[in-house]
Amino acid sequence: MTPRIYTSSYPSVPLLARSIFTHLLSVGPNSGKIGGYPAQEKVFVDAASGTSITRQDLRTLSLKFAYGLKQDPRIKAKRGDVVLVYSPNSLAYPVYILGAIAAGMRCTLANNAYTARELQHQYTDSGATLIITTIENLGAALEMLTGGLGLSQADAERRIILSPKSLTWASGLTTSESKSLRGLITFDQLLEQGELQNEELFDGDDAQETALLCYSSGTTGQPKGVETTHQNLTTATETIALVLGYQPRDRLLIFLPFYHIYGAVSGLLFPIFCGTTTVVMPRFDLIDFCVTVETYRITAVLVVPPVVLAIARHPVIDKYDLSSIWLLFSSAAPVSPTLMKEAKQRLMAKRKPEQILHVTEGYGMTECSPASHILPLDHAISKAGSVGVLLPNYQARLIVDDSDDAVLDAEEGKPGELWVKGPSIMKGYLNNPIANKDSFTSDRWYKTGDVCLRDQGGFYYIVDRKKELIKYKGFQVPPAELEGVLITHPEIADAAAIGVQSETEVTELPRAYVVHSQPSKISTPELRKAFEKSVANWMESKVAKHKYLRGGVVVIGEVPRSAAGKILRRELRALAEMEMKPAQSK
Ligand code: AMP
Repeated sequence: MTPRIYTSSYPSVPLLARSIFTHLLSVGPNSGKIGGYPAQEKVFVDAASGTSITRQDLRTLSLKFAYGLKQDPRIKAKRGDVVLVYSPNSLAYPVYILGAIAAGMRCTLANNAYTARELQHQYTDSGATLIITTIENLGAALEMLTGGLGLSQADAERRIILSPKSLTWASGLTTSESKSLRGLITFDQLLEQGELQNEELFDGDDAQETALLCYSSGTTGQPKGVETTHQNLTTATETIALVLGYQPRDRLLIFLPFYHIYGAVSGLLFPIFCGTTTVVMPRFDLIDFCVTVETYRITAVLVVPPVVLAIARHPVIDKYDLSSIWLLFSSAAPVSPTLMKEAKQRLMAKRKPEQILHVTEGYGMTECSPASHILPLDHAISKAGSVGVLLPNYQARLIVDDSDDAVLDAEEGKPGELWVKGPSIMKGYLNNPIANKDSFTSDRWYKTGDVCLRDQGGFYYIVDRKKELIKYKGFQVPPAELEGVLITHPEIADAAAIGVQSETEVTELPRAYVVHSQPSKISTPELRKAFEKSVANWMESKVAKHKYLRGGVVVIGEVPRSAAGKILRRELRALAEMEMKPAQSK
């Protein structure tokens, strides 16, 4: 059968074969410009303190950091070495990434809420040899290196760069800690040693080398290292800019975590490319958000659906002047068109009708670095509910069946699993031939695991998720990971996890079904309830916050499985729907 291939309606952009550092921070022939924009303009601002860095600062600090990484005898970083960043958002975060990349290293970005156990998986799987972390995360990093990996305290300290929370930094260590942790390398020590003359180049074929390693579970299993290359990143900036660019006069607010590809590309690298000033918050807090928008006259905001909900419905919004925003962009999880419209109406309520405000959406995934679709501004209203159109250079197929050798494409207008092909799609999962074989066809179509519809105008709608993934407020919660932890509980014989939708919070919530190893021990409803509660509490000591079992824990006699042993999640989802209905209608 002839494949039904859809192509982007945008003109293709040329693929640039160079380092993402060179792409963003080259000194142009016009003195006074870096990356095509004035060197002295602010590029990042810390929302709370107002501390800022210019493009010149960003370039210089990154090259100094790179020099320290390469020259410090304790590190001696080589091209291709992996550094793990384990830090909340800060002004220093762009310097970690761009400095490490200038030194030729790869950066693996970890959730700063990870426990030592979660961190260990990413550290060992990525082949990292160094961790950049802050005082808040130092304990978990040391625990992972000593307790988890069995290193001596001295060896563990040598693998840590203690970083500042801001660039006007004091170490954050008390005097006694400084004495007891003498082996730690500090960020400021690395900045003091000199400045790299030129960044490591990744020209020609070298642009296919990996720059970022974010972690994603893909369609199934445990989190895997997503190899995002220099060319993936240079292409992503060029293609996104053609559909939705920020302007140099924009002030973008970012509270999305930089460790997630949405924050790392759309909130960190892409704004540098656009000449925008980015105001950085360490995390989302509604009041801080409103105050920051008012203080800095923020013009563009990147959000996830629960933030759209807050903007649409939370009473506190009315107390602040948010009229400077012209762009509200949501991604990372589904959001209803009704809610998008409500958020727009709410923000428009205090403005003159002629004032421009676009509330729009994009779709993508870690593997697409980060987007394959964006809803163009001029269609944000007429096509509300759509995740938009294919980005330049992208192709798509919608597949109804690929179980046999013959792959069957969906009829026009009918749903199918979205397969995409494009230059910002990852090189592959790191050291994982099995996952790569399952995720890519032999001619490089990437199977997204999302079920999608395409209308006649070329607009796409996500209608279902086929893959095993729970998304809590945009964060990935891989069911296999929850199940792996649950079965280490001494009284759990088997476990399965699914996501259940919360209409009030506009997000999925992780819910677990567990089989007790000795059912006679929980023979009464009270004992069963107490056990379920204790499992939920126990999990809170094992996993990062976004993986807490907020959707509940339920004891079940047996986890439904197929003949091949695969968990029948559809059955569990149907069960959850039944179990939760009475509670919701009460
Ligand atoms: P991540 O790799 O963490 O960015 O997760 C990617 C997944 O999030 C996608 O495969 C989708 O399942 C989901 N996702 C991202 N954006 C959207 C969107 N706009 N609408 C619906 N689902 C989305």
